[in-house]
Amino acid sequence: MSAAAEYARLKGLSLSLDMTRGKPCPAQLDLSNRLLSLPADDFLDGDIDARNYGGIDGLPAVKQLFADILGVNSENVIVGGNSSLAMMYDAIARACQFGAGGDAWNCDARRKFICAVPGYDRHFAITAHFGFELIAVDMTADGPDMSQVEAAVADAAVKGIWCVPKYSNPSGVCYSDDTVRRLAEMKTAAADFRIFWDNAYAEHHFTADPPTLANIAELCAAAGNARRVIQFASTSKMCHPGSGVAAMASDAANIADARTQMAVQTIGPDKINQLRLLKFFGDLDGLRAHMKKHAAIIAPKFDAVQEILARELGGLGIAKWSKPQGGYFISLDLGTDSGMNLPGGGAKRVVELAGEAGVKLTAAGAPFPHGADPHDRNIRIAPTFPSVDEVRQATEVLAVCIKVAAGM
Ligand code: PLP
Repeated sequence: MSAAAEYARLKGLSLSLDMTRGKPCPAQLDLSNRLLSLPADDFLDGDIDARNYGGIDGLPAVKQLFADILGVNSENVIVGGNSSLAMMYDAIARACQFGAGGDAWNCDARRKFICAVPGYDRHFAITAHFGFELIAVDMTADGPDMSQVEAAVADAAVKGIWCVPKYSNPSGVCYSDDTVRRLAEMKTAAADFRIFWDNAYAEHHFTADPPTLANIAELCAAAGNARRVIQFASTSKMCHPGSGVAAMASDAANIADARTQMAVQTIGPDKINQLRLLKFFGDLDGLRAHMKKHAAIIAPKFDAVQEILARELGGLGIAKWSKPQGGYFISLDLGTDSGMNLPGGGAKRVVELAGEAGVKLTAAGAPFPHGADPHDRNIRIAPTFPSVDEVRQATEVLAVCIKVAAGM
């Protein structure tokens, strides 16, 4: 059957499938329902009563849990509310208003921020919202193209870079040791240059032998750039995203500044939710055991995408895609390294065709600054939320749409 005939057949099925955003599926959410009856009676972490005011930087044992995830000391951690994205937004807002160890970032109307592409649309939206010019650098199999990054930071108006170092959203890349070292050591024209190290998927592996990530905080400190990195993480995709716990970590001076400024904003975070989480996970080992249950649910969905893409598109030279070992996404590029053979890239057309056949995909271009993919070739696949059968169907539709767009 030609691709066009197959497309017409699929369209006739009146499908209604959604692969737009990387959300945990209901079975993943169910894994954590016990949280809702915690804490039952004991409200103490040491001698701190979680029900009361105070504890601006979080419960000590929860600080330790995030310290273990991020590879830092617990005194370098602030535990916040339910959203790491909100902590990132606040950190950018504080830097723009009050500076990041120097003058306010808003003193420079030309301020700029580096975005590795494809990347996380919500990161880019934060810096666009604060008026930064977004400097796109290419994502490679080792992380951001470091030659491009090192060239960009020669400009003092470049104040920072967004990084998702493990299972990058959406490429699934884990930064190589060399990339992490170069980020820590590079000379930046801006003394207050900051790496926003969003380790959202630090514990989200679904293979038995996950890659390891070099310790950016240690490498920055060893290079004399201890203030350079601010790390973030959250439990959003470990339990319930609507009521997770987020944290940031950095060197003592950055943490002291952040704590002082946050103390104007709030008397303290939701420590009951922090305690709930602590009782649920126990420690890092408990958290990792829980993450294995997530992996058991989502790995078959990623496997299904890989199997169908390989079967339908393998060897045709019209698409290539990532094979992540963790995280929430697969990134697909139309065309091949040796050249594009879809007219004008074709990603928008493919997403449109899929939509018309009842499969919603993330808008083409979303993982690029201002939603514009200069090559119109990238499509982000988010397989976690639909069921395995739905993922299979949606991927089959996607593959047919790619063939139709390629005129096959
Ligand atoms: N960072 C990355 C890289 C993400 O992919 C996401 C969600 O998709 C978030 C942060 C959101 O985190 P949170 O729920 O803690 O705000």
